[in-house]
Amino acid sequence: MDAFRSLLEPDETERLRLQQAVEQYAQGFIQQLPTLPAFVAQPDMGAGLLEAPIQEEPIAIEEALQLLQKQVDTPGINSASGNHLGYIPGGSLYTSALGDYLAAVTNKYAGIFFSAPGAVRMENMLLRWMAGMIGFPEDTAGNLTSGGSIASLIALATARDAQKITSRMIPDAVVYMTAHAHHCLDKALRIAGLGECPVRHIEMDAAYRMSPQALEKAILADKASGLTPWLVIASAGTTDVGAVDPLQDLAHLAKKHGLWYHVDAAYGGFFALAASGKAKLKGIELADSVVMDPHKGLFIPYGSGAVLIKNAKQLGETHHYQANYMQDTLSSLGEVSPADVSPELSKHFRGLRIWLPLQLHGVKAFRIALEEKLFLAQYAYNKLQYMPGFETPVAPALSVVIFRYKPKAGIEANAFNQNLIHEVQQDGRVFMSSTKLGEAYMLRMAILSFRTHQDTIDTALQVLQEKAAALEEQAAVKASVERY
Ligand SMILES: *Cc1c(COP(=O)(O)O)cnc(C)c1O
Repeated sequence: MDAFRSLLEPDETERLRLQQAVEQYAQGFIQQLPTLPAFVAQPDMGAGLLEAPIQEEPIAIEEALQLLQKQVDTPGINSASGNHLGYIPGGSLYTSALGDYLAAVTNKYAGIFFSAPGAVRMENMLLRWMAGMIGFPEDTAGNLTSGGSIASLIALATARDAQKITSRMIPDAVVYMTAHAHHCLDKALRIAGLGECPVRHIEMDAAYRMSPQALEKAILADKASGLTPWLVIASAGTTDVGAVDPLQDLAHLAKKHGLWYHVDAAYGGFFALAASGKAKLKGIELADSVVMDPHKGLFIPYGSGAVLIKNAKQLGETHHYQANYMQDTLSSLGEVSPADVSPELSKHFRGLRIWLPLQLHGVKAFRIALEEKLFLAQYAYNKLQYMPGFETPVAPALSVVIFRYKPKAGIEANAFNQNLIHEVQQDGRVFMSSTKLGEAYMLRMAILSFRTHQDTIDTALQVLQEKAAALEEQAAVKASVERY
């Protein structure tokens, strides 16, 4: 019946018209990236979007794109920009966007092997490729997740069951990490019902790496007082300073004392593709579980994490399920279904957004880009060391550079650096973020977008110098006014 003809299926002419409008928008966005600010402080913060409510009648694509441009893509951080040096950036490969587009058009059901054998093979093939990259065995199991946080949750839930931590034991079941471990691990412990586990923050050395001696001391002390040490969490690239814990030494201790060994390589994992990065990750192959984020070191758009569990059976034991209405999917021939090894059932076919860029660019292009990031971090560190007034407490292990400005006598350093980062962010030419080391307010430059090159770093250093000089001047004027 014509009355029911779907209004939801545009014809070919209309499809092409819509596609062209979207593609034109995308091309404009990418072309303008080098000149667009990395941060826009728009006073209404996108609230104009709410003035176009969801309603019965349609709007034109041009209007929708205009809303997107003004209210969504402009305010805040431009995460696609190579001038984004805050938190942990990644860029966003155009070829990955094309993969997402095709995944959405075909809507392959990548949760179950029976439904989409090729899609599941693709995801498992990517996981095996990642496993190989970090020296995990061929039969490693894993899952492509929406990010490092969910990947960590999967890893820690698996660790809990593999270590047979049942509810009664939780208050005595001790977890070890440093104070620089990512907060998503505390969150994962809590969500996995492990919030009452005692957590020991193990002492770090001068480069902010976990001290193996201190770890062993803590394990022995806890054992002596009748507690159950069960989990060591190491970081392969901390968010604060990019430090890599001594992965090999920690692995031996975890093994010696019967603990699960988890390595959070959400940020640092893909540096295994660069020869100099791989050397820094030595020992990661000894972990029981590893998390790494393609939306960081593989430059995939947000929504891409991965968890690898060396013992495939353990991953399945924590996540498998049965349901009558799924009985025709239960053939175990072929590949592990993502639904059997993760909390998800229906899920985004997120393999395609990783597979397509790897196929179209080749792995070599990624190796080169990652080597460049490691080089740029050393470059920024070297420059900062000789920039008057700036101090750099620790050399970058990977691609995070941490520093601060030491203002002239009489000016409070923490307040000065807080003002400095505020000025840098408002300026918008580059975006950087801050953290704390102990009580010290620190600034950081995280270099990981494939679009970041040496000129970006030069701009960042120039902005820092300009803003620090202006703040010094302001403080001097203020001091002389106060004197009179
Ligand atoms: C980003 C990050 C996480 C969290 O991952 P999401 O993808 O943001 O959920 C965990 N650990 C480290 C070290 C990270 O850099």
